[in-house]
Amino acid sequence: MPLVFYRPHKVPCRLCGNGFERRESAADTRLSHCHKCGQAVTPLLPDSVSSPQSARKPSIREAKAAGFTVLKKISSGEYEKQ
Ligand SMILES: [Zn+2]
Repeated sequence: MPLVFYRPHKVPCRLCGNGFERRESAADTRLSHCHKCGQAVTPLLPDSVSSPQSARKPSIREAKAAGFTVLKKISSGEYEKQ
């Protein structure tokens, strides 16, 4: 059963802080409101929590572009000196 993290719309919540976790099966209906304070909550699925955008792999094109830029600068600089 996946662990779903619920984040209240206004954080920190006086009753549930930055949110709460709930272990639920596929048959369970998602909560739409905090069961403690009653405000609307957003479910964050494990997938979206464990792969933040900063940890995203750069695409091959991006990596190549960065590598080519560095090599190009070095080689052109050396060529000009000779
Ligand atoms: Zn709450």
